[in-house]
Amino acid sequence: MRVLAQMAMVMNLDKCIGCHTCSVTCKQAWTNRGGVEYAWFNNVETRPGQGYPRTYQDQQRWRGGWALNRRGRLKLRSGGRLRRLLSLFSNPHLPKLSDYYEPWTYDYQNLITAPAGDDLPTAKPTAPIVWSANWDDSLGGGPELAQHDPVLKTMSERVRLEFEQAFMFYLPRICEHCLNPSCVAACPSGAIYKRTEDGIVLVDSDTCRSWRMCVSGCPYKKIFLNHQTGKAEKCTFCFPRIELGMPTVCAQTCVGRLRYIGIVLYDPDRVLEAASVRDEHSLIEAQKRVLLDPRDPSVVEAALASGISEEWLEAARRSPVYSLIFDYGLALPLHPEYRTLPMVWYIPPLSPVVDAVRDTGFDGEDAENLFAAVDSLRIPIGYLASLFTAGDPAPVRDVLRKLAAMRAFMRDITLGREPDESIPASVGMTGELMYDMYRLLAIAKAEDRYVIPHAHREPTTEAFNDGCSVQDSGRVMLPMPKVRAS
Ligand code: SF4
Ligand code: SF4
Repeated sequence: MRVLAQMAMVMNLDKCIGCHTCSVTCKQAWTNRGGVEYAWFNNVETRPGQGYPRTYQDQQRWRGGWALNRRGRLKLRSGGRLRRLLSLFSNPHLPKLSDYYEPWTYDYQNLITAPAGDDLPTAKPTAPIVWSANWDDSLGGGPELAQHDPVLKTMSERVRLEFEQAFMFYLPRICEHCLNPSCVAACPSGAIYKRTEDGIVLVDSDTCRSWRMCVSGCPYKKIFLNHQTGKAEKCTFCFPRIELGMPTVCAQTCVGRLRYIGIVLYDPDRVLEAASVRDEHSLIEAQKRVLLDPRDPSVVEAALASGISEEWLEAARRSPVYSLIFDYGLALPLHPEYRTLPMVWYIPPLSPVVDAVRDTGFDGEDAENLFAAVDSLRIPIGYLASLFTAGDPAPVRDVLRKLAAMRAFMRDITLGREPDESIPASVGMTGELMYDMYRLLAIAKAEDRYVIPHAHREPTTEAFNDGCSVQDSGRVMLPMPKVRAS
């Protein structure tokens, strides 16, 4: 067994308030430059909605990700090598700038040069504003715009008509740093690579030749072309910060504290088999089988033999990502049917369920009420299933029932009543495990939400940190700052 480490993230959608702080801080850090004004490595979209770029989930149109051919073999949806080469100069599956949006600015000069008059001068936009990365935020435009949501289109007519009253939630997205990245496979120049030490997917801009096959190859549309440099750019999982043991900018600045970062171990030799599973509803379990239990002695032995250090193994054992996927069984991957084995996982939102029960006059935190609501709610579990489980409602229902049980269980504790062990038992958990789950979801400190081992650093870097010979030449050397997650 070969063992590799993968840096991964989980986002708890129940806690996202759609404030876009993550998007803005990411933009300030990474895409605050010419040529990528339109690019948001982190974006937060409202569901239902069209997303960014518009309708990116419609793979019939954009041909991103992988699909099985008639013989059950994994193929890029964008076609084989020859077909992709033939479309190098005219790629019909490439989103246009208008599918993202045309960035605009404002005529700020008018604020100081406008002639004196009765009204205050304004800074008008310099171009007509017709769409943006966030146009349908919080259902802006309602059914008129959201009816173009590719996921909603697959739902029943009743769901489509009722969604506006039923629910909405926010879906923050970054590059998935997939285990089976179609962007890497689609690039004719070999410019995109997955780091062996932590699985982060990066672009080698020296090698990039601007073919943009990665843009169409990525089903999540998380690679962007810099129109000034002609180079592809993407979310780097903030690797310079990660290497120092710091969380990504989006995670550290997240107002809802809903992001978790940690290591998972995986067997690269199982990736192809998992991505090639025929039944789409079996893809999640297949993806989970690629990931290895860091507490299993045989995995530890193989990991050490593969060169993974004790520090990283300890981080893998403490990984909140592993716990949320396996110990608590809450986290689900986004669109597993794209077969890229994405490594940013999500806890689907329960809140609309609680609100809906409360709106009907019942106790919104009573376990029985909540369980009944999860199963019979007008909120389409099918919609969540189309996002996170390739349309299979059962895993989503299981997660929502666990979250509902946790609320009911914790209410007794909060009110000083005897905890009711039958509540966690009804979802296959113990009270102790459920309490641990609550702590991680609700009140975990940064050191528990972000368990990031330091990357191996070259001796030269250590030498620099410890000081260097120029100190003796009379120059004042400032000490390197101590870096700690907050
Ligand atoms: S989500 Fe990221 S790693 Fe996965 S295919 Fe797209 S760009 Fe590549
Ligand atoms: S900062 Fe956090 S809470 Fe705000 S939109 Fe981003 S993910 Fe959601």
